[in-house]
Amino acid sequence: MTTFADLGLDPKVLSAISDAGYNEPTPIQAGAIPPALEGRDVLGIAQTGTGKTAGFVLPMITLLGRGRARARMPRSLVLAPTRELAAQVAENFDTYAKKTKLSKALLIGGVSFKEQDALIDKGVDVLIATPGRLLDHFERGKLLLTGVQIMVVDEADRMLDMGFIPDIERIFQLTPFTRQTLFFSATMAPEIERVTNTFLSAPAKVEVARRATTAESIEQGVVEYTASRKDRQASEKRALLRALIDREGEGLKNAIVFCNRKTEVDVVAKSLKKHGYDAAPIHGDLDQSQRTRTLEAFRNGELRLLIASDVAARGLDIPAVSHVLNYDVPSHAEDYVHRIGRTGRAGRQGKALTICVPHDTKWLGAIEALVEKEIPRVESPLKAPPERERPRRGGGKEKTAGEKRTAPDTSIAAAPEPAPKEKGGRGKRGGKGRDEPVVGMGDHVPAFLTRSFKPKSETTEEPADG
Ligand code: AMP
Repeated sequence: MTTFADLGLDPKVLSAISDAGYNEPTPIQAGAIPPALEGRDVLGIAQTGTGKTAGFVLPMITLLGRGRARARMPRSLVLAPTRELAAQVAENFDTYAKKTKLSKALLIGGVSFKEQDALIDKGVDVLIATPGRLLDHFERGKLLLTGVQIMVVDEADRMLDMGFIPDIERIFQLTPFTRQTLFFSATMAPEIERVTNTFLSAPAKVEVARRATTAESIEQGVVEYTASRKDRQASEKRALLRALIDREGEGLKNAIVFCNRKTEVDVVAKSLKKHGYDAAPIHGDLDQSQRTRTLEAFRNGELRLLIASDVAARGLDIPAVSHVLNYDVPSHAEDYVHRIGRTGRAGRQGKALTICVPHDTKWLGAIEALVEKEIPRVESPLKAPPERERPRRGGGKEKTAGEKRTAPDTSIAAAPEPAPKEKGGRGKRGGKGRDEPVVGMGDHVPAFLTRSFKPKSETTEEPADG
């Protein structure tokens, strides 16, 4: 077994690793650290969750231990696609460099230029930045990249998705060609391959298995779902999501709920909150302080459900997520791999459940082709209760709601439902007499509660609304 001590790291770094509680390097660390310490270029093919951040931060700190920072000329540069990821690299740096005198600056959107400018003016050992922000600084003449000895590109495939590759190429050209490059990507798209062929010199290639195909610690499942009517799909899907959350019960300690669109992120978060769930959204349109607050709360266990878009969630380091819930099947198969990689980390058990409506089955097929296996279909929690257990209607509103709460199998009814908040919802449905008793559904009353489970011949109830 390789230990951290075998890798040739600075004793101060080893001591910080031990303080952080890590005993053994992960495969990407064991593979990338030795060649990095030899000064070689490294091409790491690994995802978030594999420990790749420490895979480049630890050797950087060791290598930078010798030498001193010079004004305006950072000695090393880490490029990350999102501010959150950059901030996490900075946190890693703080953790592992705490026993050294190395300094850093963080150049990301939403953080004031002035403070970081002052740091850079003074001289920093490590500059951590998103590409756009870095180029802004460079163009304002605040920064020289000719002193960069080590350059790291993290999550290059994300950079590609986000259109940052031209920026990355430009930044490469602004640094000395003698620099050492540590380049990380979860996948090797042709465009990424081209960049590495151009800018890396005889790199040590370190590849760790893709999580989706190997992480036995992630239990996966797909709930196939067809709406009772097309115009009800959205509200029924939200009810299905709640039912899934309820069915997982206590086992669902915390979850990231992924949506394909940021408008959906907001709608789903609002709806969950309205139904009494502890949920908050995170997407690119929220301001930085709000995003930071939400993330902090989620990390500290004060927030149970984080509703996110793929872009916003990129590179988020949230070590202990029990569940990933895909409200939508991602349209890019690789996003599925990234999404579910948020759970089942570092040997912990995790569960990833995906809701698939008929429109999304083609994307599900692409995912299964990519991960080379079929994702098990799991039963919908919205299965109809047996006829005799079906809650009776016709009592008072509250009574019906009460019955529904205790009815077996109607997991949806187990949702904590803040009845007083429902007024608006009922109003919107136009106060339809006896259909009102579905307390707690707001304007999201799923049609299956009222009509769709009985065989047609037995259906005596009227639809909930028109
Ligand atoms: P990353 O892939 O860099 O986002 O890291 C994923 C998670 O693994 C982070 O929460 C790290 O703190 C954690 N981690 C990094 N290195 C190790 C290690 N050697 N052993 C256990 N956990 C680690």
